[in-house]
Amino acid sequence: MNKLEAVVFNNRGGPLKLKLKVAKKMPLPQRCYLWACIIFGIITVLPLFHYMSRWEAVNEVKEEDLIRLSNLDLEEGLVYSGNIIKSILDIKSYTSTVLENGLRVLVVSDPLTSLAAASCDVAVGSFQDPPNIPGLAHLVEHGLFLGDSEHKEANTFEQFLAEHSGHSNAFTSQENTNYYYKVSPDKLEESLHRFSLLLSHPLLELESLQREYHAIQSEFLKDKLESARQVWRLIKHMANPSHPFHRLSPGNLETLQNLQHSSVIKEFHSKHYYPENMRCVVYGREDSQDLLEMSRKCFSKLTNMKPRSEPDQEKGWVSAYPEERLGVWVDYEPLREGNDLDMIWPVTGASRCGLGMQYTCSQRGIPNQR
Ligand SMILES: [Zn+2]
Repeated sequence: MNKLEAVVFNNRGGPLKLKLKVAKKMPLPQRCYLWACIIFGIITVLPLFHYMSRWEAVNEVKEEDLIRLSNLDLEEGLVYSGNIIKSILDIKSYTSTVLENGLRVLVVSDPLTSLAAASCDVAVGSFQDPPNIPGLAHLVEHGLFLGDSEHKEANTFEQFLAEHSGHSNAFTSQENTNYYYKVSPDKLEESLHRFSLLLSHPLLELESLQREYHAIQSEFLKDKLESARQVWRLIKHMANPSHPFHRLSPGNLETLQNLQHSSVIKEFHSKHYYPENMRCVVYGREDSQDLLEMSRKCFSKLTNMKPRSEPDQEKGWVSAYPEERLGVWVDYEPLREGNDLDMIWPVTGASRCGLGMQYTCSQRGIPNQR
């Protein structure tokens, strides 16, 4: 070993001696051996780092991903997994199928997840509300988890999820109602059975639903104070009154008073909640085949659901923004000071009813109904 001695001065003026040891040059064979060990170590450890770096991401099932996935347009009659575009870091595998009852299901297998999850999207929203009961689709969303034919006590599903590290939520938009929940992975199958039962055989009794009127009313009052909602209401108000977009979509205490009989809400449910009108996503630790089998078994409860009547034919709807309603200047008093530029335009044929609206230059977007 060679020794190198350096002298520096500390801030008190005294000398501070440092002794540095410099190794002799390592012989070539040892250097080659050392480099080989380093390269081998990197190759071995890299996959471990890869999984560790993804741990945070896979640990948490993102609700927006579930909702997005349950809105995917899946090809009918085909089991496939190759059409999902995903990141190279995404270790999850995706497989979709159409069950015998017509329900489209996407299963996501993630062996590392600490929570399982499921989501179901029903192609019904405020546009399908009866004209005299705005908010009916929203009320069904609020009432669906209140009990089913086997669990008649209110909120037992919520309690079940809470006991197993989970929770649920739902929202109603113009043309979709979406339900989603998370649960401990070992309770996924049991939760799917219960979820399926709620979707197919909810109680929807008028007495228990009336308690939800006040929840919807408080959402309505809260929305009145939100600036983004104010603009949204104005945009809706400017639409053609003959188009359902013009209506008060979330409903409130006043509009829901028009609901007099449970039969109306049950008929609405059976008209729209049938397998061909729904898409589900199941997310769990099991491999894809097991998840598909689990979905097939649990969602078979939906088999008996047949629409009593054909869903509304929306093709006959008038345009939401005919020519005379475009290019109009409107002054309004905003709820808050601010500078926003929202650019919105109707796109014919972009959605089922011919009303496709996208916010492009707005950072806040339009929140969904809760
Ligand atoms: Zn709500």
